[in-house]
Amino acid sequence: MALQIYNVLHREKQPFEPLHEGKVNMYVCGPTVYDHAHVGHAKTYVSFDVVVRYLRWRGYDVLYVQNLTDVGHLLDTGEDRVLKKARQAQALPMQIVETYARSYFEDMDALGVVRPDISPRASCHIPDQIKMIQTLIEKGHAYVTEQGNVYFDVYSWPEYGKLSNRRLDDQEAGARVDVRDDKRHAEDFALWKAAEPEHILRWDSPWGEGYPGWHIECSAMATKYLGPTFDIHGGGVDNIFPHNECEIAQSEAANGVPFARYWMLVGSLTVPDEFGIPVKMSKSLGNFYTIKDALKLHRPEVLRTFILTSHYRNPIVFSEEALDSARKGWERIYGAVRLVRSKLNNAPSGEAGNAFLDVLTQARQRFVEAMDDDFNAPGGLAMLYDLTREVNTLLNSGQPVSKTVLEAIDATYRELGGAVLGIVPEETAVAGTGNAEREEGLIQMLVDLRAQARAERDFGTADRIRARLAELGIALEDRPDGTVWRVD
Ligand SMILES: [Zn+2]
Repeated sequence: MALQIYNVLHREKQPFEPLHEGKVNMYVCGPTVYDHAHVGHAKTYVSFDVVVRYLRWRGYDVLYVQNLTDVGHLLDTGEDRVLKKARQAQALPMQIVETYARSYFEDMDALGVVRPDISPRASCHIPDQIKMIQTLIEKGHAYVTEQGNVYFDVYSWPEYGKLSNRRLDDQEAGARVDVRDDKRHAEDFALWKAAEPEHILRWDSPWGEGYPGWHIECSAMATKYLGPTFDIHGGGVDNIFPHNECEIAQSEAANGVPFARYWMLVGSLTVPDEFGIPVKMSKSLGNFYTIKDALKLHRPEVLRTFILTSHYRNPIVFSEEALDSARKGWERIYGAVRLVRSKLNNAPSGEAGNAFLDVLTQARQRFVEAMDDDFNAPGGLAMLYDLTREVNTLLNSGQPVSKTVLEAIDATYRELGGAVLGIVPEETAVAGTGNAEREEGLIQMLVDLRAQARAERDFGTADRIRARLAELGIALEDRPDGTVWRVD
């Protein structure tokens, strides 16, 4: 079966057929860089990271564009977030933007998120946005007001509302236009705003000095780098309206052709409130954890595993229990990977354990089936857990396992768990040279020595090793399929 994607635009799973064979042009709405990213951002961008990694692993040539919003994102209060922060910090708006853009990439790098091919900034694409606004005015879909604002006339575009399934009549039926507002209809949205005297972020335009509305940047930059029609547009589900809806209307009205062909939206990350009811994590609610804080407590692979336990379209509840269970699951997988890699050097040649190659082929098939079904990463993870059980059984059976088989197991983990899901590190204890790897190598060596001591019925030595490791905060757990360790 071919790859299926749940297309929000048509509300159904559809076979994925890229516009140009073998090539995928993809755009994802990026963050507004005015503060440190929180774990809600991690859910969105890790989810799309796995989409991009999987498409590439499947052989597609992916061009991945993800913008940085550094201008024009207004708060509900009408305040610009970047300017507000700049005032608080007594810094230039572009200093704020630079600081948090760097912070964002630091966080994404730490999480193993592959960088987009292009990360265009709104502020660097003002002429492209002005050009698109001019086209919209010429085509009768936008109008300029006396104050120098430009609005999109939503009633000029009958398809407005097709993504979020809102008809204009249902929306703010009868909503009155604010007296201070110079729009024709309450639902019209800003393409360009005239800058008030205190607004520092301002540019020249045919309509006077001002700055672009938020939505137009994504239309202009997606069109510039991916063409007027491209394959996949992604984002967080909260931005379906108005942001994504406005993007489609502007782009299709200006370019005269369909915009993105597949729309993929990621469910929110929620946190239990004081009554245990999940609410969205957001800065405005003050219930957010930054990615930097989360990474102080958890390995990046554990955070990724946690995110991937829920399908990207679904919401996920962020809690210590959920993270703990993700950590345990991840440690099972990583423990098996370490064991396989530690055995590689001394493995016999020959065909011992060759029957396991079939298990690997089946595992791979199951993985592809899951991921082909709208990037079902939880299904992919479940396959890795099952595989891990079988790998442990094989390695603890006492039967010899050839180097070829061990290499095939390692390669399976590297590809599916590493290249696609990003939860299996390239280097582990045995092969690594960094400090963390060296530490892991030393711990694993002690675990191996203890296993050897136990096998030789030297329980005194085995217990001493366990006790000394416990003093260092490293707990050992003997399971039927081997000993695992963890830092307590
Ligand atoms: Zn966008």
